[in-house]
Amino acid sequence: MINALNVDGYRGWSDHYDTVVATIRVPVVVDGEEKLVSAGQALNLLSHPDRAVRVAVFEAYGKAWQEKSQLFSDTLNHLAGFRLAVYRTRNWDNVLAEPLAINRLDEKTLATMWNVIEKHKATFVSFLNRKAQLFGIDKLSFHDVFAPLTLDSEPKKYTYQEGADFILTQFAKFSPKMASFAKHAFEQQWIEAEDRDNKRPGGFCTDIPLEKESRIFMTYDGAPGTVATLAHELGHAFHSHVIRDEPFENTNYAMNVAETASTFAEMIIADASVKEAATKEEKIILLEDKIGRSIAFFMDIRARFLFETRFYEARKEGLVSADRLNTLMEDAQREAFQDALSEYHPQFWSSKLHFYIADVPFYNFPYTFGYLFSLGIYHQALAEGSGYEDKYIALLQDTGAMTTEQLAQKHLGIDLTKPDFWEGALEIAVGDVEEFLNLTNDLV
Ligand SMILES: [Zn+2]
Repeated sequence: MINALNVDGYRGWSDHYDTVVATIRVPVVVDGEEKLVSAGQALNLLSHPDRAVRVAVFEAYGKAWQEKSQLFSDTLNHLAGFRLAVYRTRNWDNVLAEPLAINRLDEKTLATMWNVIEKHKATFVSFLNRKAQLFGIDKLSFHDVFAPLTLDSEPKKYTYQEGADFILTQFAKFSPKMASFAKHAFEQQWIEAEDRDNKRPGGFCTDIPLEKESRIFMTYDGAPGTVATLAHELGHAFHSHVIRDEPFENTNYAMNVAETASTFAEMIIADASVKEAATKEEKIILLEDKIGRSIAFFMDIRARFLFETRFYEARKEGLVSADRLNTLMEDAQREAFQDALSEYHPQFWSSKLHFYIADVPFYNFPYTFGYLFSLGIYHQALAEGSGYEDKYIALLQDTGAMTTEQLAQKHLGIDLTKPDFWEGALEIAVGDVEEFLNLTNDLV
C-alpha cells in the first residue's frame, strides 16, 4: 500500500521539485553581456575564477531561489510529511532509522565519526582563513569556499598515456593486483574517456554482471583532477572485479561503502601528484584541490546533516515555513563552518536536489562516511605496506555481505564506534592542511 501511495505521494513531490527547478532563471552578466541562465548554469558560474562574477551571480542566485521559496517549502514539507507518516505506521520514532538501515550502519558509529570531525574543525577553519588571505579578503563568502585559487603556475598536464602509466605505477606500490587489473582495463579498452564536444559531463563506472566486466565513462582533459577521476572509476571497477564471484545477493553493497575502493584509488593518485609537483605553486594548487574534499565532507555535508535532522524534528510538530527553513539552514551552515564565513546560503535547502530525492533519505552523510572510511584504510595501508593488499581485497569482497561494523571488525580489527580509527583518517586530512599552511606562509 505504501508503495502504491508513493507514486503520487512523496515520489510525486520529488518529481514536482524537478518541474519547479526547471522554471528557475537567473539573470547574470557574462563578458559584458546580460543573459538569463538556468539554475545549473548559474551554479557553474559560482565557481568562476573572477570573484566579481561570483559575487554578482551569488546574489542573483539567492534571489531566484527565494522568489519561489513558497513552492519549495510546500514541496519539502509534504515530502517529509509523507515520509514521517510512513515512519509512524512502522513505529519508527528516529528519523535516522531508515538511512542507517540502508547503509547498514550503527547510529553510534555515525555519532563517533561526527565527533572526531568536530574535534579537528579548528584546522579546517585555519585553512578557510588562509584561503581568504590568499584571495585578499577578510573572510570567505559561501561562494568562495570551492572557488579555484589562481597562482602563476598551472599544474602539469598528463597525456592519456602518461596518466595511465602514472596510475599503474602508483597503484602497484599499494597493490600489484589492482595495478594488473587496471592494466587489463586499459588494454581491453573498457574506458571511454575521449575529450570531445557534445559529451555529457561527469564520470561513472558501470558493471556488466553476466560478463563480469566493467565499463567507464568520463572526459579526460589531462589535468591532475581527471587523472584522479580516472583512478576513482578504476577503483569502482576493481571493487566489482574482486566481488564478481560472490553469490549475487552478496554483491549489492550500500552507499557508504560503495565509494571505498574508488576513494582509496583516488587518494593514491591525488597524494602522488602532490608529491611529484614540480613547483611550489603547483603543489599548493593540488593540495588546495585535495583539501576541498575535506571541506565538502566535514563542513558542507555536516551543515546538510544538521539541517535535515533539525528540520525533521520541527516537521513532526507541523508545517515549517520558508522563512524558518532559511533560518534552520543558515544556522546549520554557521555551526558547521564554525562562523568562518562572511555570508551563507540560507536558500540552500531549496537549491540542493539531494534534499528532494524520494528513495534515499539523508542522501549526504554516507559520502562523508565513505571518504573517511577510505582515508582510514589508506592510513592503515601506508603503515602496513604491501602486506595490506590481501586484507583490503578481502574487505571489498565482504562489502555486500555484512554490516559496516562487522566488516571493519573482521578485516581491519577495529571498532568503528570508537574514535581511534577515525582519528587515523583525520590525521591524513589534517596533515594536508598543515602542509598547505606551511607552503603558503610567505604568500600572505
Ligand atoms: Zn564514485
